[in-house]
Amino acid sequence: MKCIYCGGETEVTNSRAQKRSNQIWRRRQCLHCKSIFTTHEAIELSSSLFVEAKGSPKPFLTDLLFTEVLLALQDRKNCYVEAREITSTVIRQLLSLPDKPLLKPHQISEVTANVLKHFNRRAWLRYVAEHDSLQGPALQRVARL
Ligand SMILES: [Zn+2]
Repeated sequence: MKCIYCGGETEVTNSRAQKRSNQIWRRRQCLHCKSIFTTHEAIELSSSLFVEAKGSPKPFLTDLLFTEVLLALQDRKNCYVEAREITSTVIRQLLSLPDKPLLKPHQISEVTANVLKHFNRRAWLRYVAEHDSLQGPALQRVARL
């Protein structure tokens, strides 16, 4: 990886596996200007997880999930940090589903609603109100959890 400041070559000076987020954390130092920065190696989910859609499956977009979670949490003070944590939790749970790598949109909504429900009731209600698939039988299923 090139240095973000001068474009010089860098070397890894420290590396750790982060089990919770399934990422590799690395500290890098530029061989030229000696700047230090951190990188995270993570699985590219859009190439390994798919969502059923009319026509052909669509790649799973972490940014879309994050945006929906952020909207649900919008009136909370730490909404960006919380949305990132909740998105990671949802992804972990999605990756444990037997149906992966091809998920149904309502599975993603149900897992997300369930995680939000355990975190903040107001955010959960806001999320459910935005997702038609959660109203009706699915909402009753989520509400019991
Ligand atoms: Zn540099």
